[in-house]
Amino acid sequence: MIGSPMIEVAGVVYDYPAARALHGVSFSVEAGSVLAMVGPNGAGKTTLLRCMAALDSPTEGKIRIAGLDTQDDPRGVHEAIGYLPDFFGLYDDLTVRRALTYAARSRGMDAAATPAAVEEAAARVQLSDRMETRAGELSRGLRQRLAIGQTIVHRPRVLLLDEPAAGLDPEARRALSELILRLAREGMTIVVSSHILAELEDYSTRMLMIRDGKVAGGGVVAAGAGTRDGLRVEASFADAPADLAARLAALGLTVERLDGEVAVILAPEGEDDSALLARLVGAGLKVRAFQPVRRTLEDAYLAEVAP
Ligand code: ATP
Repeated sequence: MIGSPMIEVAGVVYDYPAARALHGVSFSVEAGSVLAMVGPNGAGKTTLLRCMAALDSPTEGKIRIAGLDTQDDPRGVHEAIGYLPDFFGLYDDLTVRRALTYAARSRGMDAAATPAAVEEAAARVQLSDRMETRAGELSRGLRQRLAIGQTIVHRPRVLLLDEPAAGLDPEARRALSELILRLAREGMTIVVSSHILAELEDYSTRMLMIRDGKVAGGGVVAAGAGTRDGLRVEASFADAPADLAARLAALGLTVERLDGEVAVILAPEGEDDSALLARLVGAGLKVRAFQPVRRTLEDAYLAEVAP
């Protein structure tokens, strides 16, 4: 349906035999978003991703991915998504080419389109020079890249990655960030679970925090790459030094934080920094410092934990 979210999770409860892992989780993700799913160990991220990947059925609740119900049409969901589990297995006897080919075919790609898709996926995870190497002979990081290649080879609309950077060297981590950004620009909707916030910073546009099997904070919030810059302004008015917030508000500016004569304001839409500075000075403000600040994923995380 036009305008409906790419991922819809509604009231999902999941019970393991001994304990409830998810207690009614609801959220939605717009197409083209990169959602960082964060939260402490044991929060329920992996359980939720497995339900989203139509590998486990929620005890209660509904999940729709690309318009498909995970319980009514798990095969359709498998073809629409790529899923990288936190611990994955590879067929060690298959070469990189055969492993990618198998992954593409098992997710419904037709035989004619597969060879080109295999070459493309191998290039994207920088394994083109290892096509004839058996998976069992690859290093841990190269195995991780092959596993990621297998999740994208059929060009899914939605990608679910559980701790994708584990075991990658810094260069491969950077390549993974760039790959995620590129896939998102091409319109893929991506969910990445991790507790290493710095890793998610460069590419996430949204954040969802899971704690104790529940959505914490305000649900899906803007984060990292999707957050507009703020501006740290250190200033006063000669005539009314204590009145900074009101005077900035009178100029139509949104004050996010105020500490004495230091204000962090949201960068106004459509106005560049030099024009804004000229406007502040023109309004009689004594500007001592004027510095762009970025709201990091960690800021967003901490704001959700302790608003
Ligand atoms: P981590 O960040 O450590 O990977 P997580 O957020 O992915 O954690 P889950 O693996 O989803 O968390 O676990 C959620 C809860 O469910 C935990 O309390 C965990 O002990 C429990 N759990 C997970 N897998 C099973 C299982 N197979 N059987 C029983 N309980 C399980």
